Amino acid sequence: MIENKHDSFIIAQTIAQVREQIAAACRQSGRDVSEVQLMAVTKTVEAARVNAAIAAGVRLLGENKAQELCAKYEQYDKDEVDIHFIGHLQTNKVRQIIDKVCMIQSLDRLSLAQEIQNQCERLNRQMECLVEVNIGSEFTKSGVAPEMLENFLLSVRSFDRLKIRGIMAIPPICDTEIENERNFERMHQLFVDISSKNIDNISMDFLSMGMSGDYLLAIKHGSNLVRLGTILFGHRVYP
Ligand SMILES: *Cc1c(COP(=O)(O)O)cnc(C)c1O
Repeated sequence: MIENKHDSFIIAQTIAQVREQIAAACRQSGRDVSEVQLMAVTKTVEAARVNAAIAAGVRLLGENKAQELCAKYEQYDKDEVDIHFIGHLQTNKVRQIIDKVCMIQSLDRLSLAQEIQNQCERLNRQMECLVEVNIGSEFTKSGVAPEMLENFLLSVRSFDRLKIRGIMAIPPICDTEIENERNFERMHQLFVDISSKNIDNISMDFLSMGMSGDYLLAIKHGSNLVRLGTILFGHRVYP
């Protein structure tokens, strides 16, 4: 139940505006708007407001925290919605989320791949994954180093329950748009390079990049999945 009709109206209006912006960015770079998926990132957003976004047509949710996902999962109107995990994932939390998401975008280490494999075996299922790339080579951030990506993909191929579908990045906050563009361009180049290598069992369908502050720039550089929180729901209020 949505308690605040006004709020859900604003969310719907915002989503319509963001979709127009996405369509315009696609036109400008000669891309078809159907190529780009819009994800609503739900961290700290109460379930009723997430449901307002779903009512307004959002079909993809991004979850950062296992605990928060488990707390809100039952309240989501999720019949026609895909949920992806996008946050840093502790190995011991995989079990809690494995039956709730259809993709894990934050695969960043072999021990995590092993645990996803184990949990998928338990449930006799597969899991789609994106490899998170530490595109800014920041030592405080998780993600596979760009120069290690190909090796990582070759190693992760042995986990037959994982289907690697592409790559994801959370680029560093940059002082200038030029630096920001350079990171997107590097990601796009990795995406194209890996695609062209046709590695068995690795497909490059998803290039997940672009958040509220830079999603139009990311689309210009080939992103086909933008992950939006603040612009849809307003600034996050942490308890
Ligand atoms: C929070 C978050 C986003 C959305 O960020 P906004 O700037 O609020 O749009 C996207 N991706 C990941 C991985 C996040 O944690």
